[in-house]
Amino acid sequence: MRLSLLVLWDTGRMSSPMTVQEFYHPGLDPRIRCFRAGEEVDTFVVVTERMLIYLDSMSTPELMRQVIELTSVDAGARQVVVINTHADWDHVYGNQVFERGDLRGLIVASEATAARLHSEEARAVLASQQAQDTRFEAVKLTPPHLTFPDTLTLDGGDLSLHLFPTPGHRQGHVSVWIPEVRTLLAGDAAEYPWPCIGTYSDLDALRASLERMTALDPAFVLPCHGGTSSPDLMARNLAYLDRLAELVSAGLADAPELSYEAALTWLGTTPDAVPGFYRDFHQGAVKATREWLGEQA
Ligand SMILES: [Zn+2]
Repeated sequence: MRLSLLVLWDTGRMSSPMTVQEFYHPGLDPRIRCFRAGEEVDTFVVVTERMLIYLDSMSTPELMRQVIELTSVDAGARQVVVINTHADWDHVYGNQVFERGDLRGLIVASEATAARLHSEEARAVLASQQAQDTRFEAVKLTPPHLTFPDTLTLDGGDLSLHLFPTPGHRQGHVSVWIPEVRTLLAGDAAEYPWPCIGTYSDLDALRASLERMTALDPAFVLPCHGGTSSPDLMARNLAYLDRLAELVSAGLADAPELSYEAALTWLGTTPDAVPGFYRDFHQGAVKATREWLGEQA
């Protein structure tokens, strides 16, 4: 149970951040605001003429309250909408703030994300986290108010947000395209240094999602993990997956060429520069690639 919870619900990312910081990407439209909770997760806020839109709700209600405080100047008369890209805890544990707190908002998500938030497994993951860390004590699973099967468009007046399916990291995952500013909010469908893969059976969907996002030709890509805004993020993720497949099929799955440290050098980085949980994600990706190739053989 513990291993499957780690892999399938991303609990390996837990890092206990206490404060949220706003951060900036040069050239990004100022109507898109970026907030970071340590190494755990990034959350974005899009300020449109008609709506104030939160992309995910951070990993605890307390962290989300900080984001709301930092964006209180933007609230005004705007309709508040919260998008859940998927149901992993670091994207939804702040949902309750929009239902029971001062800033009431409509929470929207895919039908699959809603189903996961209603599941017994979600309750088990939360109970496990609450037993380990008091900062999860107040969390109450709060499913979305509105669900959609495939796509959804939010017309904010000056900016429109197009939600579209990007499964792979999770079934029911959605990303958000804002065409007026050619900005893609990728969620966890792409991340730096590499995406987190649940099982080998998700690899085809993950690759298709990376290709679908690339086809939008964005100027800015904002993932919820990795801190980059580079439009070549999806190409880098695909190159990583290609390299894994190449080395695993050459029988090098356990060789130094495929070690965590070696994989980081493909991206020109080092273990000091990225959160430590990417070591587990890399090992998971190697295992998934080996199983995926085995099935295709
Ligand atoms: Zn995440």
